[in-house]
Amino acid sequence: MKPFRYERASSPSEAATLLAQTPTGAFLGGGTNLVDLMKLEVMQPDLLIDISPLGFDRVEALPDGGVRIGALVRNSELAAERTIRQRYPVLAQALLAGASGQLRNLATTGGNLLQRTRCLYFQDISKPCNKRVPGSGCSARAGEHRNLAILGASEACIATHPSDMAVALIALDARVNVLGPGGERTIPLSKFYRLPGDQPQYETVLEHGELITSVDLPAIPFATRSHYRKVRDRASYAFALVSLAAALELKDGLISDVRLAFGGVAPAPWRAYKAEQILRGAPASEETFRRAAEAELAAAQPLRDNAFKVPLARNVLVRTLLDLSREEQR
Ligand SMILES: Cc1cc2nc3c(=O)[nH]c(=O)nc-3n(C[C@H](O)[C@H](O)[C@H](O)COP(=O)(O)OP(=O)(O)OC[C@H]3O[C@@H](n4cnc5c(N)ncnc54)[C@H](O)[C@@H]3O)c2cc1C
Repeated sequence: MKPFRYERASSPSEAATLLAQTPTGAFLGGGTNLVDLMKLEVMQPDLLIDISPLGFDRVEALPDGGVRIGALVRNSELAAERTIRQRYPVLAQALLAGASGQLRNLATTGGNLLQRTRCLYFQDISKPCNKRVPGSGCSARAGEHRNLAILGASEACIATHPSDMAVALIALDARVNVLGPGGERTIPLSKFYRLPGDQPQYETVLEHGELITSVDLPAIPFATRSHYRKVRDRASYAFALVSLAAALELKDGLISDVRLAFGGVAPAPWRAYKAEQILRGAPASEETFRRAAEAELAAAQPLRDNAFKVPLARNVLVRTLLDLSREEQR
C-alpha cells in the first residue's frame, strides 16, 4: 500500500472543500471497499478524509411521509430499523443479502452506493482495464466474464455494479442528497449512475468533492409488499449473478402499480422501466410477467459465458412477481 495522509473531517463543508482541493483524495466511510482497493493499489488516494465524525447516522421520518437515511448509517443498522423492515422490506432484505455480518456492521449507506465493481480485471493492476486505466483495453470481453453485464455495457467496459442495497433503493425511487463546494443538491438515484459508454472511468454524476449526506425514500404505501430475490453461486457471502427488487400493488386482479429493478446484470442498478410499463394495468398472470421480463431483456447483449443470465433474469422476475401476487391475493 502506498503511503497516504489521514484527516478527520470536522464539518461536512470542510470535508467537501478539502476533498475538492485534493484531486487524488477520497472520503473514508467504513473503508470495507476503499481500503481493500488501496491494498491492491487499484485506488491510491494520497489523502483519506475520515467522515465518521460527521454524524449522518440517523434514520428519520420526513414531513411528506418518506424516510431520510443518513449517509453514515451502517448497513446492519439500516436492515434492523423497524421502519425499513415494515415499510420497505425489499430494502432490509437486500441489505441482509449483501456481504457478511461483520462487513455490514462497518459498511455505510454512502460507501455502499459508491463501491466499485468486482470485475477481476479492474482489481488486478497487471491486466488492462479501461475503467482503471482509460484507453488500456478491456480484458473481460475475451476473458472471465461469467458474472459481468448483459445490459447497458459498452465495447469499453462490461463490469457490473455489485451493490444489493442500490438495487432496492433504485426500485424505491430513492434520491441522493449531496453537499459539494458549490452547495447542496439532490440527485434521483435513477440519474446518479452513468453507463460506461467510452468513458467507463466515470461511474456516477458526482463531482469530485461532493459528499453524500443522506438518501431519501418517498412514501410508497404498497412497498410494504415488496421482495428482494438474489441468485448467487453460494447461499451467502457472494455477489449476485442476478437479483431483483420488486414491489407490487394489485386491485381487482389487475396490477395498479409496480416497481422493479435488477442487480448483477448491468454496470449500474437497472430499473426495469419497460417491464413496469407493460405490467401497469395488466392482469397479474404468469403470462403477463413473462411478457414484461422479455420486453426488458430484449436489449440484452450477452457474451460467450454469461448468456445464462438472460433466462435467469426472466425466471427471477416471473417467480418473484408470482410470489408477490399470491401473497397480495391471500
Ligand atoms: C468480501 C466482501 C463481500 C461483499 N459482498 C457484498 C455483497 O454481496 N453485496 C453488496 O452489496 N456488497 C458486498 N460487499 C461490499 C460492501 O457492501 C461494501 O464494501 C460496502 O458497502 C462499502 O461501504 P463502506 O462504507 O465501507 O465504503 P468505503 O470503502 O469507505 O467507500 C467506498 C467508496 O465510497 C466513497 N464514499 C464513502 N462514503 C461516502 C460519502 N458519504 N460521500 C461520498 N463518497 C463516499 C469512498 O471514497 C470510496 O470511494 C462485499 C465486500 C466484501 C469485502
